[in-house]
Amino acid sequence: MHDEAQYLDKGLAKTAFAFRSPVAISSVVSGGEAAQLGLQPGDGIAAVDGVDVTGPIAVKKGRATARVEKIQTLLADAFAKSGSAVVSMKTAAGPKDVKLQPPAVCASVFWVDAKTKLDAGADGTSVRVTEGMMAFAAVDDAELAAVVAHEMAHNLLRHRDRLAATGRAKKQVLATEIEADRLSVWLMQNAGYDPAAALRFIERFGRKTGLGIFSDATHLRWGNRQMLMQAEIDGMTQVDARNGLRSPPLLNPSN
Ligand SMILES: [Zn+2]
Repeated sequence: MHDEAQYLDKGLAKTAFAFRSPVAISSVVSGGEAAQLGLQPGDGIAAVDGVDVTGPIAVKKGRATARVEKIQTLLADAFAKSGSAVVSMKTAAGPKDVKLQPPAVCASVFWVDAKTKLDAGADGTSVRVTEGMMAFAAVDDAELAAVVAHEMAHNLLRHRDRLAATGRAKKQVLATEIEADRLSVWLMQNAGYDPAAALRFIERFGRKTGLGIFSDATHLRWGNRQMLMQAEIDGMTQVDARNGLRSPPLLNPSN
């Protein structure tokens, strides 16, 4: 899903992506549930279980993704409650109600924040990458995977909950950053990316920014992050793969 509000030039976005409602399907996974229901990119989402989602959303006003987030929350709540939701769509052929009964998938959602700043973040359930970061990482898909893997690791390790319990002292935040770096290379390896791309990314990023979120006392300097991740990669190659996957000790402390 995407919202026309996420684009600086709404007219151009509507021309390029159809947008039959302010929030529309941006792409459909082939063979997935939406594809089987005949849904297509551009089809608009008008309501979820009768709740209209085409107007401005009062909460998080001014945030371009507010409506998308509202829809995601409505869907997640409906799936948790009954396993399904009726979504009112606006398709090329007219209005259409579809009943969604999705299988369990990845616990994180991923979205692009239309900002030029080089930034990424994780809030426990979603992974956010800015447009600026997407462009910076675009030299190599594996470098973008490194950014996403680091943020996904924060969610998998429930760092937000942990910091809420321990407080966000620099030492505590640094510990979560080190864990996210360590787990990220396992996630990359298991997803078929070269984990060494994380080292290349962090060097380019460190040289480019010098200052900023990744270089204050809550984050190691890029050279130290490289050493940390290289050590993790070296250790990972000693672990036997099962069905092509290596089980990260950080996610399975008992193993
Ligand atoms: Zn981090």
